[in-house]
Amino acid sequence: MNQRPDTPPPSSLSLPPPPDTILVVDDDVATRLLTSRWLSRAGMKVVEAEDGQQALDIVRAQPELISVIVLDVMMPVMDGYEVLARLSSDPETAGIPVVLLTAHANDEEDVIRGIQHGAYDHLAKPYRGPVLVARVKALVEKRRREFNVYSRLRHAERQATTDPLTGLSNRRDFERALTRESAFAERHREPLSLLLIDIDHFKSVNDLFGHAEGDRVLQLVSECIQSTLRRSDHAYRLGGEEFAVLLRGTDSSAALAAGQRIQAALKAQPVIFTTGDERTITFSGGVAAADLDTEFVTRELVERADQALYAAKRSGRDRILHEERPLVSVGE
Ligand SMILES: [Mg+2]
Repeated sequence: MNQRPDTPPPSSLSLPPPPDTILVVDDDVATRLLTSRWLSRAGMKVVEAEDGQQALDIVRAQPELISVIVLDVMMPVMDGYEVLARLSSDPETAGIPVVLLTAHANDEEDVIRGIQHGAYDHLAKPYRGPVLVARVKALVEKRRREFNVYSRLRHAERQATTDPLTGLSNRRDFERALTRESAFAERHREPLSLLLIDIDHFKSVNDLFGHAEGDRVLQLVSECIQSTLRRSDHAYRLGGEEFAVLLRGTDSSAALAAGQRIQAALKAQPVIFTTGDERTITFSGGVAAADLDTEFVTRELVERADQALYAAKRSGRDRILHEERPLVSVGE
């Protein structure tokens, strides 16, 4: 069996966990350890950085893990204000609350500057431990609430544009991408290709082996599509047994080659159904391109590819045809 029947659903649709780690940044070892200890004792997960650059490296590596940053103002090379400025200029890190640890002597000036640089809260050294814990806890709560709202929005958007069975983008996303990519191709006179894929005799799979087996075939085809594509290509399930691949910066012959790679991947993995029957899944494909030959015209790209697909079906299936060209690739 080349495909497990218990294939888990695409993980991209699960909600990410909220950030849970406090980053303590201080060049003074004693203060850093003391701060970490207060927070750990209150049940928080802590990581430490001894200078500004190290702090930025940690945050940028995994911004989704950092809940709150406790940041010393007075540090050599890169001070707390500089760290703050860099964090707020990056959308990935701008939402992470920062508590600034200021020096008592010039507390007022530091606080004002900190607020101007985007700090959420401040504490003058030497601070009182329970006050630090209370402030950080409040910000952890705030960050968790904001993160939940944000990730629910992202989740809802992803759900609305993802096909749950295959994890591919759906027709709605395809239409948006087609509009965007077409405009880009015409403006920059860059090639854009569309490959439409329709699984051959799919109805008979459902009729003979049932819909669960049909679903496995759809998942297999989508895996073969995804495993052969380049980063700049994007695949969609348009509905039923129909798929589309948008290939950016790709002319018609390269798009055809991409289709042939999918054909080869599928042929290497015949499906064995629960009945014991074995079948090699094939598809018919149609390619249309906005490239030098077509003067980069993206108009009716879907209709053009669809006509090629229809011709591929009519002329015997298991082949990919280019728009208005003789037969280019036969699967066998
Ligand atoms: Mg310091």
